[in-house]
Amino acid sequence: MASLPEQNFQVVIVGAGLSGLRAAMELDKAGISYIVLEAMDRVGGRTLSVPASSLNDPGLVEMGAAWLNDSNQSDMYTLSKEFGFKLIPQVSDGLSLYQDRDGRISPMEYGLPIPFSDNQKVEFKDFMAQVSSYVERSDLQRPHLGPDAKELDSMTARDFITTKFGTALADKLLTLATRSLLGVESDELSALCFIDYVKSGMGFDNIISDHEHGAQYLRNANGNQNFATNLAARLKNGRVKLSAAVKKIYQSDNHCVTETDQGCYRSEKVIVSVPSNLYSQIKFEPDLPSSKQILRNSKMGYYSKTVLIFSEPWWRNAGLSGEFSSEEGTISFSRDTSVPELGKFCITCFHVGNPGRYWSLLPDKERQARVWHQFHAAFQTIVDCVPEPIKIVEKEWAKDPWVRGNPMPVMMPGVMSSSAGQSIRDPFVNIHFVGTETSFVWKGYMEGAVRSGVRGAAEVIEALAIAP
Ligand SMILES: Cc1cc2nc3c(=O)[nH]c(=O)nc-3n(C[C@H](O)[C@H](O)[C@H](O)COP(=O)(O)OP(=O)(O)OC[C@H]3O[C@@H](n4cnc5c(N)ncnc54)[C@H](O)[C@@H]3O)c2cc1C
Repeated sequence: MASLPEQNFQVVIVGAGLSGLRAAMELDKAGISYIVLEAMDRVGGRTLSVPASSLNDPGLVEMGAAWLNDSNQSDMYTLSKEFGFKLIPQVSDGLSLYQDRDGRISPMEYGLPIPFSDNQKVEFKDFMAQVSSYVERSDLQRPHLGPDAKELDSMTARDFITTKFGTALADKLLTLATRSLLGVESDELSALCFIDYVKSGMGFDNIISDHEHGAQYLRNANGNQNFATNLAARLKNGRVKLSAAVKKIYQSDNHCVTETDQGCYRSEKVIVSVPSNLYSQIKFEPDLPSSKQILRNSKMGYYSKTVLIFSEPWWRNAGLSGEFSSEEGTISFSRDTSVPELGKFCITCFHVGNPGRYWSLLPDKERQARVWHQFHAAFQTIVDCVPEPIKIVEKEWAKDPWVRGNPMPVMMPGVMSSSAGQSIRDPFVNIHFVGTETSFVWKGYMEGAVRSGVRGAAEVIEALAIAP
């Protein structure tokens, strides 16, 4: 590596996902020289929009991030306006289907986690109210200093709910929430991490909502990966280097050297935008401080999708919403992700948490067969003849070496209130850290990613301005 000539920039950005590219855009505007080094052969990271059928098909399906909204996700909404993207509301009409742990299918009102009996409805309301009261009291800027922080960070989310409710229903509701939101089981993260995450998404009602202001309100007919493609296109020519995995970052007091197989880059500052569980794939010299070393052991959830593409919206014609939830099946939940104007009709199936992990162990062909079997069995309880999909597309993010899971690394009890949790955004001398999980709001979402990029760029611009 030492034989390759070094190139000089003021700032090196590691990763061309939304956070890295948004940081680059700010540096570009400030007239700072930079280069973005991306390990994959494409930009966008965890946004990936692929053609629904033929290569030239304008209808794109989202294998990564799908939803955004136009109110509390203002940075993403502003970008979507700038890029002229067409946003369409999530369809929420029609009946949904639910599969219990014994495989029985029943119809359900759209948007409910399970079909409730009258007694369960009361318990569900109480569950939401109690969790929401913790969420409201928590401190978004300094989660470890909130009034309940000590209690919440002393136990897992599961232990917390067991202590508060001790019922099978509350346990089930929490598991559905941690799987569908974070791709983890409820005993794989601290209660504080869960409460903080929910707060960052504007509260429990909002983070699970498919309606106005909710996390699942709007989809982008132009494909979310095009946020990244358009951001990259606005940067100066040649400033995004693909297939350039960063192997090592060396820093002294006044400069850094970032190494890839394609060459070495000397800079005054580095912005690292990779999720913290991937810090271990980069050799830092000197090594990261112990607080950041703890973060690199944090766990990413299992969160993947299979998209079933059909020639027509047969489920809509049968009065179904396309939403299907299953307690323990291979498909944990699904949504209608059609864009009728583009002749694209599809249902996206999510594989999350332990059911997703078990599914992931199957051989390739068997995975798709399992999905179709479960899906078909559920929908044929209402529709006489469920047509075969014209195409099935799958993306297993946990097997992607540059991602390894989604939506953000979670923390076990004790980590969030320790120096590791508290210093998640702290620079390490000349190395700054961005990425969706470092945002104060919408952690784990595209909005969190772009906001963190703006924050990281501002830190670097300020540091460069005061540097001697
Ligand atoms: C299945 C799925 C569904 C989702 N649904 C939604 C949703 O509906 N709404 C929403 O807002 N968000 C959603 N998300 C989350 C959203 O995609 C992410 O929060 C966001 O894209 C993260 O951006 P980032 O820049 O922080 O990280 P990333 O996108 O992970 O970017 C980091 C980049 O760094 C690169 N990299 C890693 N290691 C190296 C290295 N050593 N050298 C160089 N480059 C490296 C990676 O290749 C990647 O491009 C979803 C994600 C997935 C996977």
